[in-house]
Amino acid sequence: MLSALPDDALAPHWLQVPDDANDLPATVWPASAQRDADGALAIGGVGVAELRTKYGTPLYVLDETEVRAHARGMHDALRGAAQAHGTDARVYYAGKAFMSAEVVRWVTEEGLCVDVCSRGELETALAGGADPARMGYHGNNKRVSELERAIEVGIGAIVVDSAIEIERIAAIAARRGVVQRVFVRVNTGVHAETHDFLATAHEDQKFGVPLDAAPVSVARIREIPSLEFGGIHCHIGSQIFGAAGFVESASRVVELYATLLAGGSVPTLNLGGGFGIAYTRVDQLTPFPELASAIVEAVARECEVRGLPLPELAFEPGRSVIGQA
Ligand SMILES: *Cc1c(COP(=O)(O)O)cnc(C)c1O
Repeated sequence: MLSALPDDALAPHWLQVPDDANDLPATVWPASAQRDADGALAIGGVGVAELRTKYGTPLYVLDETEVRAHARGMHDALRGAAQAHGTDARVYYAGKAFMSAEVVRWVTEEGLCVDVCSRGELETALAGGADPARMGYHGNNKRVSELERAIEVGIGAIVVDSAIEIERIAAIAARRGVVQRVFVRVNTGVHAETHDFLATAHEDQKFGVPLDAAPVSVARIREIPSLEFGGIHCHIGSQIFGAAGFVESASRVVELYATLLAGGSVPTLNLGGGFGIAYTRVDQLTPFPELASAIVEAVARECEVRGLPLPELAFEPGRSVIGQA
């Protein structure tokens, strides 16, 4: 049962006060969260009172079973959707949602690759046993020392965020005598949050190169022997419900994909993360396999109408892997 908040509450209009504040909505809490006859909370079969006694508070508790179930479920849904269209998908855990060596171990054991966006996250992921060849490095202001370290450990992909970074990565890779795979992050002008998305021709956004500047960056990468072009990347926001924002962004990215194919191969389209999760019982989620199918289908359709092959896809869920746990 829910009741409305007072009109003047400093809260979104849709938010409602639960009649029973001790209720544990199944969409918000881990599946293992339960109350005993006295109302005491247990997670994963362990009473929180016991945890408090043992570790003190504040205490951050994660349910490993829940994290693994989300990681595996998203991995299988996205790969299944891609395979239904004759391609494959890589699923990266976006480490900024929550990163510890132990969590890295769980998600990689469930088949995920790992995204990092700082030296600290890189070292944490390595400590958790992640294979650097299955890691991506993000960020719009990467230090040269971070790039050095990423290339030194053999990172699978660096997601380039600006033209100058191309030259920095190329120089480091050339000095080390390696060929570094890079993606180009594009700003599609689609920015989505929750149920709405905003689609503009140009957006003043701090991440990525504008769509119309991307061909120049890609051409530059293709002419540098110490770089290998891995594909295009975009990430349109966070806490997104429904497929519409992804579909709009996919149509713009496929347009660019068509342009880039004229000058060489474009192995992978990375569509980022941002899948919404429930924070209250009001939030209604589309079952993830349905969402995954709708997004992949949109990309496949955009490719098909242009007579283009569907490339390998990649996704980067973060909060949807870890939040409910
Ligand atoms: C934050 C982020 C993600 C993950 O977003 P979630 O909302 O946690 O799924 C994926 N890719 C990039 C580049 C990000 O910055």
